[in-house]
Amino acid sequence: MRTIVLRKEDIYKGYLILVNRKYQYHEQHQELSHAGTWNGEEILLESGANRELNKLMEEIGGWDQIVPVSAWRSLEEQQEIWNQSLAESGQAFTEQYVAVPGHSEHQTGLAIDLGLKQVEIDFIRPYFPYEGICQTFRQRAVKYGLIQRYQEEKQSVTQIGHEPWHFRYVGTPHAEIMAQKGFALEEYITFLKDYCYGRNPFIFQTYQISFVKAAGGVTEIAVDDAQPYRISGNNCDGFIVTQVIGKTEAYQSPDYSGDNRVTGVNGKEDGDES
Ligand SMILES: [Zn+2]
Repeated sequence: MRTIVLRKEDIYKGYLILVNRKYQYHEQHQELSHAGTWNGEEILLESGANRELNKLMEEIGGWDQIVPVSAWRSLEEQQEIWNQSLAESGQAFTEQYVAVPGHSEHQTGLAIDLGLKQVEIDFIRPYFPYEGICQTFRQRAVKYGLIQRYQEEKQSVTQIGHEPWHFRYVGTPHAEIMAQKGFALEEYITFLKDYCYGRNPFIFQTYQISFVKAAGGVTEIAVDDAQPYRISGNNCDGFIVTQVIGKTEAYQSPDYSGDNRVTGVNGKEDGDES
């Protein structure tokens, strides 16, 4: 066992942070990597998310027909997009399709807008149809930890219009659980609060997932570090612990190799770093 000490601000990082109209993104260090180029601009995505995206693209030959249109954005960039959309398309359109600056998933580096390769590509609403290579991408995405974040039937939950082109990395197995249960990220984060760490974890395949409410000061979590695990903040009030159970040899998923987030494998843990 190992005790992970988490600071209050650690709830703002990890692959499961909920960023929406209610919960803003808290700026912090991000490890970004090159996801492509579009319109002369380099597209950057969080490194772990990018690795999984590229594996998926490789599997389906996706980059031959799909282009990355927008991924990580600074707060300033989000503000510019907001202002420009407001000026060109008006308030109703902007509120439906552009997140309020400070509240955009694009600021996390975990979201990417994708478009079918065409002569003309709309920056705000790229064409990403429910057929052909785009649909193949959509169907395979959950295996790689990616979800289509803004579904038509979840507009009242997400407060964002239907966006067939916007994908968010949440990691495995979370994307698959959300797809199976038909949850938007908001609903999934709420759902997990019923599964308390150390008491009644939610079991999915070879994972157990549970919630720890953040304490007033630091939060200490004792984890079984003989098994791969990951801890993510939820950006609201606590942490989600994902632990692999059962045999270890099958879990060489890069999801669980050490990265700069609150995560770790077999003692190689960095949750208490400053
Ligand atoms: Zn987007």
